[in-house]
Amino acid sequence: MDISGTTAVVIGAASGLGAAVARRLVDGGAQVLGLDVPYSIERAGDRVPEGITLVAADVTSEAEVQAALSALTGSAPPLRVVVNCAGVGWAGRIVSKNGPHDLEIFRTVMTVNLLGTFNVMRLTADRMQSLDPVNDDGQRGLIVNTASVAAFEGQVGQIAYAASKGGIHAMTVVAARDLAQFGIRVNTIAPGTVDTPMLASMDAGYRAALEASVPFPSRLGRPEEFAQLVQMLVEHDYINGETTRMDGAIRMAPR
Ligand code: NAD
Repeated sequence: MDISGTTAVVIGAASGLGAAVARRLVDGGAQVLGLDVPYSIERAGDRVPEGITLVAADVTSEAEVQAALSALTGSAPPLRVVVNCAGVGWAGRIVSKNGPHDLEIFRTVMTVNLLGTFNVMRLTADRMQSLDPVNDDGQRGLIVNTASVAAFEGQVGQIAYAASKGGIHAMTVVAARDLAQFGIRVNTIAPGTVDTPMLASMDAGYRAALEASVPFPSRLGRPEEFAQLVQMLVEHDYINGETTRMDGAIRMAPR
């Protein structure tokens, strides 16, 4: 599907991977509506490129996501591309010397990452189902979700994060099957370690060790490489229901 002439909704567009995706889609000729939390939008300040509109919405809220999507008026190009990049991480073992894992923290990570992805998929696909198809296949649009290699090899302390990302991977083929009748594809990207603000708190020694653990290329991934993969998934009409790792062949060790 062509990016040009579409509206793309990018969730988590104020930072990191989402910001890189929003830039790439604008460069490809899309109009981008970015959803993010107020704090991150404020932090992005006036560094937001032309063609990207950032609107405050919490992915976990039906009302806030619907209100943000209502900014797409009749004069906007049709919404055909949705990229879910919002996510939060947390480090904590099932049990530590201080007791069991905090249940509310587990719930929050699951709610933002898994329920938030589902919420955006269902509300945006509902809007897309009434669009005219763009080609003879009957394609109307696509959704790209963001999991993590933690969906497959969660490390010690990643129980909540891995559960949420494993859920996103598991939803992918089901969502592709559910939405097939409307001509909407669903794919997921599972990044390894990408150089974004989420990893900014690492000290230099840990960062060097992490880079060395990536077989090739031995470095962190770049947000632009993630955005390039999103573009490929938009443009390749036969990739559907698939989770693609983008990780330099890293396979995470237990810790
Ligand atoms: P980031 O922190 O730079 O960006 C995440 C964005 O999500 C932020 O702008 C944040 O405000 C937004 N967000 C968080 N909670 C939200 C909510 N409730 N509603 C709306 N927006 C919300 O992190 P990033 O590295 O760009 O991560 C993007 C995605 O990629 C996440 O899902 C993350 O789990 C995943 N991921 C990142 C890496 C990596 O190495 N950076 C690796 C694997 C997976």
